Amino acid sequence: MQKIDYGVEVHIDDTLYAGRCLLQILKSPLISYKYQQDQAKFLLGIDQQGWPQTQLLHGTNCPCFNQDYQNKDMKLSKIRLATVAMLCDKNDNFLITRRHSQMKTFPKTWVFPGGMVERLQDLESECLREVQEETGINVLPILNKMELKVLYESVYPTQLQVGQFPQKQTLCIFYEVKLNESYNNIKVKIQESEVDDFKWIPKNQLLDIMNLSTNDQQYKEMSGIYPNQYGSGIGEGHIKAFMNSYKN
Ligand SMILES: [Zn+2]
Repeated sequence: MQKIDYGVEVHIDDTLYAGRCLLQILKSPLISYKYQQDQAKFLLGIDQQGWPQTQLLHGTNCPCFNQDYQNKDMKLSKIRLATVAMLCDKNDNFLITRRHSQMKTFPKTWVFPGGMVERLQDLESECLREVQEETGINVLPILNKMELKVLYESVYPTQLQVGQFPQKQTLCIFYEVKLNESYNNIKVKIQESEVDDFKWIPKNQLLDIMNLSTNDQQYKEMSGIYPNQYGSGIGEGHIKAFMNSYKN
């Protein structure tokens, strides 16, 4: 497979390289965006004519916020792109999966299916490819609609020393993927190397789990932001994106 030199570019200054907080640079959570598929480049700007707008979110304690890199010789890498599917059946039951306990990063975290953009095709197709790889669901025949809901800047590790460069900085594109079928009729076959459990959860129940206000014992392990007292919980970006999209 051809290796893609993909990344995120901000249309205020020059190409933005990884390590600096996108929200701090853009100075607004309401941003314009555009995808250049031939280069797998995702462009961000403010009030760009003809570009759609959406919200850009990041972590409560963004590790890149106020970072100032002094070393001009440091090897810069681009911010990478990922897609995430907030996949729901026709009755608003959402599919959420648990990262395998053997994963190097964020083991036992509950997340919506998704992954890195790897091919030069439209982002919706990339997102559905990841869904199929991780859950076995072939979405297209049962797709009702698909809509970009929000963007999230994800940084790893989640804490950085002053001047420390992040190992990974990713712009996650969160889609709502609405199916025209009931989950009872959808067969899930998880990718066992990366995922070790999954659940379909009604929208309001999932909001309660994220809010730490569920009383249902079967969902306690998932409650709140990872890592909770059970060494589990939901990824911060997934909570913020879901709440931003579905909280009344
Ligand atoms: Zn940030």
